[in-house]
Amino acid sequence: MTKWVYSFGGGKAEGRADMKNLLGGKGANLAEMSNLGIPVPPGFTISTEVCTYYYANGETYPQTLKDEVMAALSQVEEDIGLKFGSTADPLLVSVRSGARASMPGMMDTILNLGLNDKSVEGLAKRSNDARFAYDSYRRFIQMYSNVVLGVDHHNFEEILDEVKEDKGVSLDTDLDAADLKKVVAKYKDKVAEQLGKPFPQDVHEQLWGAVGAVFGSWMNQRAITYRRLHDIPAEWGTAVNVQSMVFGNMGSDCSTGVCFTRNPSTGENEFYGEFLVNAQGEDVVAGIRTPQQLTLAGKNAQSSDLPAMEECMPEVFKELNAIRHKLEAHYKDMQDMEFTVQQNRLWMLQTRTGKRTTKAALKIAVDMAREGLITRKDAIKRIDPASLDQLLHPTLDPKAPRKILGRGLPASPGAASGKVVFSAEEAEDWVNNRKEKVILVRIETSPEDIGGMHVSEGILTTRGGMTSHAAVVARGMGTPCVAGAGEIRVDYAAKTIKVAGQVVKEGDIITLDGSTGEVFIGAVATIQPELTGDFGTLMEWVDTIRTLKVRANAETPLDAATARKFGAEGIGLCRTEHMFFDPKRIIAMREMILAETEKGRRAALAKLLPFQRQDFIELFEIMQGLPVTIRLLDPPLHEFLPNSEAEIAEVAKEAGVEPAVVKARNTALHENNPMLGHRGCRLGITYPEIYEMQARAIFEAAVHVSRETGRTVVPEIMIPLVGAKKELDLMKACIDKEAEAVFAEQKYSVKYMVGTMIELPRAALLAGEIAKTGEFFSFGTNDLTQTTFGMSRDDSGPFLEVYRAKGIYEHDPFASLDQAGVGELIRIAAERGRATRAGLKLGICGEHGGDPASIHFCQGAGLDYVSCSPYRVPIARLAAAQAALGGSSSSGTA
Ligand code: PEP
Ligand code: MG
Repeated sequence: MTKWVYSFGGGKAEGRADMKNLLGGKGANLAEMSNLGIPVPPGFTISTEVCTYYYANGETYPQTLKDEVMAALSQVEEDIGLKFGSTADPLLVSVRSGARASMPGMMDTILNLGLNDKSVEGLAKRSNDARFAYDSYRRFIQMYSNVVLGVDHHNFEEILDEVKEDKGVSLDTDLDAADLKKVVAKYKDKVAEQLGKPFPQDVHEQLWGAVGAVFGSWMNQRAITYRRLHDIPAEWGTAVNVQSMVFGNMGSDCSTGVCFTRNPSTGENEFYGEFLVNAQGEDVVAGIRTPQQLTLAGKNAQSSDLPAMEECMPEVFKELNAIRHKLEAHYKDMQDMEFTVQQNRLWMLQTRTGKRTTKAALKIAVDMAREGLITRKDAIKRIDPASLDQLLHPTLDPKAPRKILGRGLPASPGAASGKVVFSAEEAEDWVNNRKEKVILVRIETSPEDIGGMHVSEGILTTRGGMTSHAAVVARGMGTPCVAGAGEIRVDYAAKTIKVAGQVVKEGDIITLDGSTGEVFIGAVATIQPELTGDFGTLMEWVDTIRTLKVRANAETPLDAATARKFGAEGIGLCRTEHMFFDPKRIIAMREMILAETEKGRRAALAKLLPFQRQDFIELFEIMQGLPVTIRLLDPPLHEFLPNSEAEIAEVAKEAGVEPAVVKARNTALHENNPMLGHRGCRLGITYPEIYEMQARAIFEAAVHVSRETGRTVVPEIMIPLVGAKKELDLMKACIDKEAEAVFAEQKYSVKYMVGTMIELPRAALLAGEIAKTGEFFSFGTNDLTQTTFGMSRDDSGPFLEVYRAKGIYEHDPFASLDQAGVGELIRIAAERGRATRAGLKLGICGEHGGDPASIHFCQGAGLDYVSCSPYRVPIARLAAAQAALGGSSSSGTA
């Protein structure tokens, strides 16, 4: 026969901490504390299976439930020496929800249950405080009527206000027992008037009403939404905890509070908490009275005048501190506890794993491993990789004053201040010539803005989402970005931004918080990230565990240096096209595109060669012999040509041609689907001279650095968008020829590899063939996702939202790898590729390379490395270590 009810209290319990699925988090921990001999007000938990039964059987209960509840209730009465419904010694209970995962504030709670016209007198006598008794009763009527009977709060608020007004007072505390008796009478009349029947006096009816309301609240809209946002399945159900009430508001020898076994904001191993004398739990949370500190150290740190518990309740404090040590040693993690002291007697009401800042999480994990409480592996598993982001960028000083201007999406983390400019050219001018710090404000950005974006401290756009150009580029550069701040109006002509009557002009200072999406007027002080200390220690441990290598996507010297600082073990993707947007180079690039003949193109490419060579020399030098994967030109050529009349005229002038020529070339290059058009190796097939120049620049740079430094430099040259072996054959032949020529000229040679990106489904399926030529594969999962789904990475944002809301795809497949579809292609390609070429080196360089769930997948698929933007390198290192340790990884799309 199924057991539905589990008792706890009096130093024993039927449940345990590891029964969370059955008893919910709260119930399981109450049981565990009881078993540990910690004082817990006696009570019982109605299991989550009852909730499941309730919904599966037309909102009815299992047959034996009533008897089990009655037996458990008698046990509580015996343990505490009070009687439910008694006039003399009434037992009052709280009825609370408790799901497997914490869902704060989402479901219903009822306190002081068991009060009626008779038992209230008993409570008055027992507490020797009629005011307290009637105040408890009126609170109970209000809560119960609202939660269980559906009578709106405002009915009760109005009555309370009336009584206060009649008496000529403004505070609840100015009402005495007689006044509160009046309030109770009026409350009951109101309930009868609203419902056509009296407020229930039968305490058992009250109890079952409350239990039903808690189960019912599992399906309220708030809870449903919360579950959807936090991936909590509806089948889990909630438990119901019925527990004897203890009172922290029965006099000056009573109190209530919350505490943590360690400081949750710094992680310091110090007892941390607050309490209020003569108060109920909700008073601490409501923040009406200033709470007192538990410890003297806390009191001094806060410069508080109020006595610490350590001073004013020393015995209770000693007991609480002992419980703190006991619980932390038992759970082996920082605990967040709630307690109540009733007439100098301490009762623990809750313990759970405490929430903490990322900084505290690192300190606690490292300290606990050093203390021997947990292993280093446990410490690694405890840190959420994504949370490290908070530590890697400057953040706003929490103490600094600030004035909000507006809000957008938190597109790229970190905080920055600077003077407002409205174009990329101005940004470069202000930074390079005036030595100013700027924030680039645009409606949206485009590839042409790269230079200005690079020099800006932060980027603010009013249009576009998390994968807009501004967001992706800013994340890559580690520049704070707030995107899609729709309430902010940008006027390029007037050079102003306006929000709700506030105007900011060009040159005014603003501050962005790219971690929250907030924009502030003026400069707000920031704090620099700390990469040593606990962070450094944990990262050292991480590197001893992981088997996946972590590289970075980087093309500028700054990106490469940042990547090294964050521990990258090479460059997994250098997108060479980003090197052509520099003002000095774009001219030659456009000349090449505008050229009519191969000869003309070669002449323009010859101008680009020295720039490219110098780029690669710098990259090889910074990477000091670590592998560098260089991808040859990928995007469609029209991306390098201007659009506006003014720019077209300018380019025509530079190139010495008529504007009509530029326009004609623009028209000729126009494509309906540029992402599926003339790009990737298709450029190299049609214009081999482009790839020849790039290959030459790479070899000349490699020879130079190898000769100068004596270090081995092994460039990995990567061909984009390959779909057929023949494409790769042709491109490899062209590269090999260039290598031979350079090595002969220089009388010096280096080793090199030629490989391919796998970013088309055809390439994945024919990987066995392609691996005959390709010496390594790198999965370009941005394009592979786009081509597998047949869904543009630039245009899918708006409808993907709808798809996710309708549950068609659980995650954005461009952010977290679609393991079922795209992942299957990766598995196939890895297997077929390695069947042809044993030990074929496999990596991933799409945005997914920095996503923890995708990294788990890469570990399972047998990849050698992941490559991600420099600022994600530490996140990837930690995620890779967690993947090596096994355990859960969220499952990706679909
Ligand atoms: C990819 O497609 O995943 C990739 C890394 O290349 P890009 O984003 O430059 O197209
Ligand atoms: Mg690509």
